[in-house]
Amino acid sequence: MNILVVNTAVGPLGSGAGGGVERTLGSLVAGLLERGHGLTVLTATGSRLPPRCEGAALWVEPGTAQPSWQHQPPGSAVQIPADSLLAALWRRALAEQQRFDVLLNLGYDWLPLWLTPVTTTPLAHLVSMGSVSAAMDQLIAQISRSHPRHLAFHTASQAADFDLSAPPVLLGNGFDLDHYTFQPQPLPQLGWAGRIAPEKGLEDAAAAAAVLGLPLVVMGRVEDSAYAERVAASVPAGTLLWKGFLEPEALQQELGRCQVLLNTPKWNEAFGNVVVEALACGVPVASYARGGPGELIQEGRNGALAEPDVVASLVAACQRALAIERQQCRRWAEQHASLAGLATRVEAWLAALMGPAAADPIGSFKRSVRA
Ligand code: UDP
Repeated sequence: MNILVVNTAVGPLGSGAGGGVERTLGSLVAGLLERGHGLTVLTATGSRLPPRCEGAALWVEPGTAQPSWQHQPPGSAVQIPADSLLAALWRRALAEQQRFDVLLNLGYDWLPLWLTPVTTTPLAHLVSMGSVSAAMDQLIAQISRSHPRHLAFHTASQAADFDLSAPPVLLGNGFDLDHYTFQPQPLPQLGWAGRIAPEKGLEDAAAAAAVLGLPLVVMGRVEDSAYAERVAASVPAGTLLWKGFLEPEALQQELGRCQVLLNTPKWNEAFGNVVVEALACGVPVASYARGGPGELIQEGRNGALAEPDVVASLVAACQRALAIERQQCRRWAEQHASLAGLATRVEAWLAALMGPAAADPIGSFKRSVRA
């Protein structure tokens, strides 16, 4: 297949602005290239192709980034700024669509979803978040009725947020596990990774680390500096070791040195990339039983689950997670979150859009996780 992948319009690829979507894009493109497909990535000026994606063509467009939906009230209207990057990306995608077999949208945005019935080349969407906007919910429900197979989700918990007409296509996610080194001997410290923004719940992880008397290594881009300052002030000095936004190699090294990763989503996290990235380094995860992480973490096997928003439960989960054999965590990642597994599921999904169903990817990730 000749595939045009259109990145999220919240910022350049490689900047961290796209959060987990950036890693998903890298995995998708690398995995599909390996399976012999032709890939072009359409994204903002200033973008860099991720490792192992050098075989893809990079097309860039200038423009003003989209505001992220998750930081607006749920009833907000759709916004398109002047000199919109989103508009420029989709103008280009429409102009070039006849050169491709399929267009694959990774942005959580109204415009590309609305274009689904309009394009002459099939337009597929990997939805990257749960419900955060009434306008998006409504359009996803409509597309699910008119073009049900054009939508895919990461996990069943995420998909359950939406009013869908058919069982969802679930893709999970995949990671280049060769780039995550198993680390058998951690330091006496806990880890937390993600965009530093209220929906990620860093304050609860900080409180749990303070109770446990262990430092918490914080890895990620500060999206909301007032929020970061409030979290820092909520725990004794020295509890938080701020590392800033780390490139993939540095991130996996830091993750591997942690005894346990704390994952504390305050929203219905669609997948939880950092959960799998920690497991790939051999780090068990103590997570709230919510969203994607609540599906990925299996009590006693690769981590421990806590009652959402209850710090005492998180502390107890962390203590249980400390006892888990690290090799078992790495094995889980190899079985359930490989690059090849993701590429195979995406390929089956896209192939099914182009003719009589070549395969049935529906529910395949959920079945594989529970296996
Ligand atoms: N990440 C990173 N450097 C950091 C912290 C995080 O590259 O210092 C990446 C991480 O590898 C992960 C992504 O940011 O792939 C966060 O994805 P996740 O699904 O956990 O959350 P999202 O940001 O999509 O809500």
